[in-house]
Amino acid sequence: MILIDGKKAAAELREELKKEVAELKNKHNKVPGLTVILIGELAPSKIYVKNKEKSAIEVGLKSEIIRYPETVEEKTVLEKIDELNNDDAVSGILVQLPLPKHIDKQKVIEAISPGKDVDGFHPMNVGNLSSGYDSSVPCTPLGCYLLIKKIEPNLSGKKAVVVGRSNLNGKPMTQLLLKENCTVTITHSKTDDLKGECLKGDIIVAAVGIPELVKGNWVKKDAIVIDVGINKTEKGIVGDVDFDEVSKVAKALTPVPGGVGPMTIACLLKNTIECFKRSQKN
Ligand code: NAD
Repeated sequence: MILIDGKKAAAELREELKKEVAELKNKHNKVPGLTVILIGELAPSKIYVKNKEKSAIEVGLKSEIIRYPETVEEKTVLEKIDELNNDDAVSGILVQLPLPKHIDKQKVIEAISPGKDVDGFHPMNVGNLSSGYDSSVPCTPLGCYLLIKKIEPNLSGKKAVVVGRSNLNGKPMTQLLLKENCTVTITHSKTDDLKGECLKGDIIVAAVGIPELVKGNWVKKDAIVIDVGINKTEKGIVGDVDFDEVSKVAKALTPVPGGVGPMTIACLLKNTIECFKRSQKN
């Protein structure tokens, strides 16, 4: 079984991006810039944002964090986004989720200019992705896609099963696999026979949030299995896939931690660079 090493893949991707940033700097005399807005004091959000900044600087991007207290008014955040939308030094804007309850998440997402939407959450990017046009793609499914392509470069005709239909993971994952000419089944909490559907997959991507949901006898022999889940349990952090069981059946499997997670941040950097390149073309 191939243990898909997300840490190594992410380090390789960052190395490629570092070279690309140096080339862009030579060509345009400026580097792409990522601005992250962090609201409140949630510990996981603070850790994510710190890691994003560290990785951005490592590849040579300009990085800025704008911090607001939990009580900040929605209007203040929207005005700041408007300012960043009009700032040429800012290539990508990310508002760290979740947001305090008094701030409308969708309003914030839609306030970010689609060309600077490094999370790929703006409806225009969602629409472009589903129409097969160039767009920002949400970072986690993009990372999953790159890991799958490393194992199997030609996905045409493969049967893929995506477990979970969130806007963040399942839906964009489905679009990326469709673009590669996979036959995709998207499953969710109301799917009748989840085990039966999973058993048809040459590729399974699990993004559910239920510890070790996908069992060994749900997986076809030699399937590629990507585990997006991050679940805190008594035995530590586990994914949505039963690693011990599935590793006996699958051709390749991502561990948790150390699989999809590291690719997510690397793909955020990739998206920032793509936004910069598109802005230089326009
Ligand atoms: P979500 O709660 O938004 O969506 C979960 C999806 O799973 C829903 O579509 C739901 O229909 C489906 N679901 C729920 N119960 C099910 C069941 N019994 N059978 C089949 N489907 C079921 O979650 P999300 O934001 O997509 O996150 C999913 C998991 O991925 C979580 O564990 C989250 O922590 C993790 N995650 C990891 C990364 C990363 O970088 N690795 C990034 C984002 C999220």
